[in-house]
Amino acid sequence: MTTPVPFPDFRQVYDHFDQPITALDCGSLCAPYNPHGIPFCCDICVAVPATYHTEWDYLKTRTNLWHSYRGDECPGELTNPGTLEQETPSHMCLLACLGPQACERPYRSISCRQFPFFPYLTADDCFIGLAYNWDFEHACWVLSHLDQVSQVFRQEFIQTYDALLFDIPQDYDSYYDLSEEMRDAFSKMGRKIPILHRDGNDYLLDPETDALTQVDARDLPRFGPYRSEMAPPTGAE
Ligand code: SF4
Ligand code: SF4
Repeated sequence: MTTPVPFPDFRQVYDHFDQPITALDCGSLCAPYNPHGIPFCCDICVAVPATYHTEWDYLKTRTNLWHSYRGDECPGELTNPGTLEQETPSHMCLLACLGPQACERPYRSISCRQFPFFPYLTADDCFIGLAYNWDFEHACWVLSHLDQVSQVFRQEFIQTYDALLFDIPQDYDSYYDLSEEMRDAFSKMGRKIPILHRDGNDYLLDPETDALTQVDARDLPRFGPYRSEMAPPTGAE
């Protein structure tokens, strides 16, 4: 049985988490590499958005942008929604939107606003900053250009999750598990984890010890099609 989650005013949460990730339109920079021609994070064939149950309650009374995920939204690819639901934390539900051509910016979910980042929790329970969904390294332009992530986005992200992780303990547990999963994955790959720290600096984190080494984000690796790209325009912050 799903327990209702006490939650703050979603309009307020959205209004305080509204800055774009970068000054550049990153959707126009990744879409050319997606065979469907749209940003990877807005492509239901690539990622199925999840919202809190109470967030869905808020959205469904205010916009027709979203519907419950059925599994038939990706053309030519029928998915059993029950399979994905089993992998979804019980305090969340799966949705699908009308797509980027019909996006309503004020009603983007928290998952739209946070992508590709998640709050990183150390093994000893500290929310130190932003880590990212490493499955998207070869798709998301931002992950090859972490130096382009604006400080104002970072601050809004941190303030939002300082509140959400306190208000929704299930979310804290989910992100603790995801952080642990990332430590395991990066440990196996022999890699360190890039962290956009809440202190405004960038670090590589040792997945065995959570020890941090400060880095210049411009020196971090690029992935997939972005490896051979020219450097982005200067002054675009
Ligand atoms: S966040 Fe990443 S995947 Fe989404 S539009 Fe920007 S570059 Fe593309
Ligand atoms: S609501 Fe907008 S930002 Fe979110 S997935 Fe849909 S098109 Fe993308």
